[in-house]
Amino acid sequence: MIESLIGLEALWLLLPVAAGTGWWAARNATRRATRERESGGFRSDYFQGINYLLNEQPDKAIEVFIKLIEVDSDTVETHLALGNLYRRRGDVDRAIRIHQNLIARESLSTSQRTEALLELGQDYMSAGVLDRAEDLFSEIAVDADYRMQALRQLVDIYEREKDWPKAIASARKLEQATGNQLGWIIAHYCCEQAGQHCAEGDLERALKYAQQARNIHAACVRASLLEADIHAERGEHERAIHSLQRIEEQDPDYLPEAVGRLYRSFHALDRIGALDDYLSKLLRRYGWSSLALALADIKRECDGRREAIRFITDRLRQRASVRSLDRLLDLEIEDRSDTGEMGGHLDILKGLTSELLFERPVYKCRHCGFPAKSLHWQCPGCKHWTSIRPIQGVEGE
Ligand SMILES: [Zn+2]
Repeated sequence: MIESLIGLEALWLLLPVAAGTGWWAARNATRRATRERESGGFRSDYFQGINYLLNEQPDKAIEVFIKLIEVDSDTVETHLALGNLYRRRGDVDRAIRIHQNLIARESLSTSQRTEALLELGQDYMSAGVLDRAEDLFSEIAVDADYRMQALRQLVDIYEREKDWPKAIASARKLEQATGNQLGWIIAHYCCEQAGQHCAEGDLERALKYAQQARNIHAACVRASLLEADIHAERGEHERAIHSLQRIEEQDPDYLPEAVGRLYRSFHALDRIGALDDYLSKLLRRYGWSSLALALADIKRECDGRREAIRFITDRLRQRASVRSLDRLLDLEIEDRSDTGEMGGHLDILKGLTSELLFERPVYKCRHCGFPAKSLHWQCPGCKHWTSIRPIQGVEGE
């Protein structure tokens, strides 16, 4: 199948079909081919290429067809488009060869050369040769006309390399070049550094970076969660609670992330009643099932299982939720086994809710739809920051 696609693509080089590269690139290629056709050399190469195709040797056929299109100012676009096509299809080596071949031509204009360098840089990125890509894009970034494109690529490279100071420096330059605020992304770079220092046990520096993130972008939930974790680690639970209570104003979508941490710190201060009040207030405003389940746990701890069952039943009357139903069934089955009753139909229902929730993604990227079981601050699919959110609805929050 792939081979037949390659064959079709090679034919496209020779036929006046404009699909893929724009009609004029095809027109120029065709015009060139028409001129060349007058020579016997073209004809013999052409038939050799066709022969390779017929013998199912598409790689050799493509090499022949590429040679047939001489690189000059008329065909640069065709070569760029072809290289791009190869890269997108994963044939990076061939893309690199085409772009290097193009750059070696002395007849290119400055802008054509820079465009070919941009393409080559992207080839290197696809091949994972990030240091070469970095060199190329750093060189291109000097050119005012291509500065934005090069800086975007550099930011991408430093993110992949987790070189956060360089990512910050390039993002700042990109802000200047485009006029678009990138503070909300730069704050993540600071949080990344805070996370590294946390992992190394340097809580003081970690806290400094988390606070810097929030100074750069006041609505950075990630920074508040990090600050809360650092304060809690040091036993400063009042401060941890203060950090967590900021989240409602920053971005209430992320409140489910705060629930477990709130429980930890309120519990450490022996202020479960105050936590009950706070979560009840949030539940009235947002209705997330994480909040309802945390409250059910508190009811169970403070007032007993029957009270927890009554609370979840009330919640389910107001808002359908598989997670809440699953918890209710757990509590009911526990209750019945304590009193010697059999679970009966409840066991069947519990089997069903467990099945529905088993390996369900809890989060989803609102940009590309990537499903995830844990929170990623940068989407593994589309690389957007802060786009992965808790899933809402009957099977989610
Ligand atoms: Zn995504």
